[in-house]
Amino acid sequence: MSTILQAEHLTKTYRSADKQLTVLDDVSFSVNQGNSLAIIGPSGSGKTTLLGLCAGLDTPSSGAISVMGFKLNAMSEDDRAYLRNQYVGFVFQNFQLLSTLTALENVMVPLELRGVRDVASKARELLGRVGLADRSHHYPSQLSGGEQQRVAIARAFITDPKILFADEPTGNLDEENAHSVTELLFGMNKENATTLVLVTHNLELAQRTQRILRMRGGKLVEEIHQMETV
Ligand code: ADP
Repeated sequence: MSTILQAEHLTKTYRSADKQLTVLDDVSFSVNQGNSLAIIGPSGSGKTTLLGLCAGLDTPSSGAISVMGFKLNAMSEDDRAYLRNQYVGFVFQNFQLLSTLTALENVMVPLELRGVRDVASKARELLGRVGLADRSHHYPSQLSGGEQQRVAIARAFITDPKILFADEPTGNLDEENAHSVTELLFGMNKENATTLVLVTHNLELAQRTQRILRMRGGKLVEEIHQMETV
């Protein structure tokens, strides 16, 4: 199985006034294509920072990251943006839908940004897949939190990403909506072999992944391999 994500000796430090804050301290791990991984740990342990580095949204202070064999450190910001656009999906805890666009239009955005035309039918199909066929003309403010997160997931999947990074994708959802988002993510993982890298506090979500990495104080302190439960 090929490695889709490799993080080697990642360190991230922030400097404020006279002191230096080490947020990530020598973090290394890799993920194979089609696998699923959860990153867990207390608030402030560096999970979101790590996810952002791996998705190419931020750069490490030291260490190296490869996504699909591309070394992010060696790439220009434009090339990193291209790589993200082509192969990477991202789902945020607070959905980040565009409030002035309908659900359907939000899902269409990533493909439109690529210059692809006639994307409405694919967006409609994905909205159907996330159970929102009848909400396509609703604006985010007219949708529940669970519905907004499902729109965000449809939007992340419209580019057929090879790897999806999700930061607390069930964080703002009640139990029922969290369950449906969990089902959706693992359905995509199974059907499309989309690699999942999730930061989560949700045990149901973490337990569905093949591996769990536990962080504390900016370090990886434990790695748990799980049997596939479904
Ligand atoms: P987690 O996702 O585990 O809650 P984060 O990665 O969000 O942790 O944050 C880890 C630590 O890094 C926190 O102490 C946070 O305050 C700090 N941090 C994150 N971003 C910045 C920044 N831009 N400047 C300074 N400190 C930051």
